[in-house]
Amino acid sequence: MKLDLDFSALMAAVSRIGRPLKGLTLTTSTSREQATQDRVPKPPAVPPGGEVFAPEKMREVQSRDGLLEFRGQQILLYMPGHPQNRFEQAIQYPSSGNKVHVAWCKHLEEMKRSGFFKRYIGIQDQGGEFRIHSRQQPNHEVKVPLKVCKFCLTKINYKGFSRPGNAAAHTHFSFEEFFQHYESFFPSHPAPEPLSHVEKGYSQDWPDISRQYRQSQRYTCQECDVELERYPQLLHVHHINRQRDDNRWQNLRALCADCHSKQPGHDHMVVSHEDRQLIAHLRQQQSCANTHSWKEVLDLADPGLNGLIPQLQSLRAPIPEVGVDIQAPDNNIVANLELAWSGTRVGVAISEEDLEHARQNGWKVFGIEECLESPQQLLGLLSGTGQSRRSQSNSRSPFGDFDDDIPF
Ligand SMILES: [Zn+2]
Ligand SMILES: [Zn+2]
Ligand SMILES: [Zn+2]
Repeated sequence: MKLDLDFSALMAAVSRIGRPLKGLTLTTSTSREQATQDRVPKPPAVPPGGEVFAPEKMREVQSRDGLLEFRGQQILLYMPGHPQNRFEQAIQYPSSGNKVHVAWCKHLEEMKRSGFFKRYIGIQDQGGEFRIHSRQQPNHEVKVPLKVCKFCLTKINYKGFSRPGNAAAHTHFSFEEFFQHYESFFPSHPAPEPLSHVEKGYSQDWPDISRQYRQSQRYTCQECDVELERYPQLLHVHHINRQRDDNRWQNLRALCADCHSKQPGHDHMVVSHEDRQLIAHLRQQQSCANTHSWKEVLDLADPGLNGLIPQLQSLRAPIPEVGVDIQAPDNNIVANLELAWSGTRVGVAISEEDLEHARQNGWKVFGIEECLESPQQLLGLLSGTGQSRRSQSNSRSPFGDFDDDIPF
């Protein structure tokens, strides 16, 4: 895929971490000014609830690691038209309305095969309310909090959804959080609106307080222990009670951008894949990326791996390292793998460039979708037998067949 990108941020990152350009991911987008605090919510690229594209452009919708991509951006698909009776039902009981698709699930594939794909529209709105209408009265639209499609969550194993006991991935699903989790997979994001720190709700003297507090913590993340003195813009100061003007020190915590974005209620925070990889690289260098449990893997990994990590756990894979640098024979770092098993030189990457460069250096590297769909190959390499330990967790198929976007 060819991308029209501003490479200035990329080049800056190259010089910061001293690795050649070819080893860096191209999945990052805009040059960011890296505000040191919570970013403002991303404005949607289209008006809330608005249609991103006309149905005839549906053929441009692509899969990016199983997710839905339109012109480089992540989108949702749903069918606004309902039969009259289901339209009335959906207004009262949104869960009986059509489902919102967030991935290339088997239902979407079936609908495409059957020629029904043009009934869908694509949107980026993350607010969770969707305009629907009765097919008899297309002009009478009502906004309804439609539910996310379970096939989609199964397809990408969102938050381990395929495993028994993880129904909360569906019942507590947030579209905003979903988009945040997969930011590393998409090359471009709508640019945040530039707001001053006072407009964002911080006190006038916040820049000074924030700097003093970070100094007092020796520029170290209080969650993962990574030290960021050379990259102070990647160390944020978090308000524990989420009151942005409550600057008592007991209410503050210094958190790296990655840990900060994973705090509850921070679904709006934009952290680029490039920044997450830089933090991962520094954690490795500083030996604070040791993983002894799957929970630690999940805490340290890119949020886009929220489906793969529980799957690997359920398949009893060995616990991987997170954010491992791959060096060429000349010692230059050419790639950073999201997950790696160094002993067997096996890894998982998000960006195609990382994947390719690690492969060129003798690693066996897998993409996320590849792993989710057929983990046997990866597991075979890890067990050294070429065989896999079989999973029982991927046999969830309670939903049956259907010809409309029928609720389940
Ligand atoms: Zn779906
Ligand atoms: Zn951290
Ligand atoms: Zn915060």
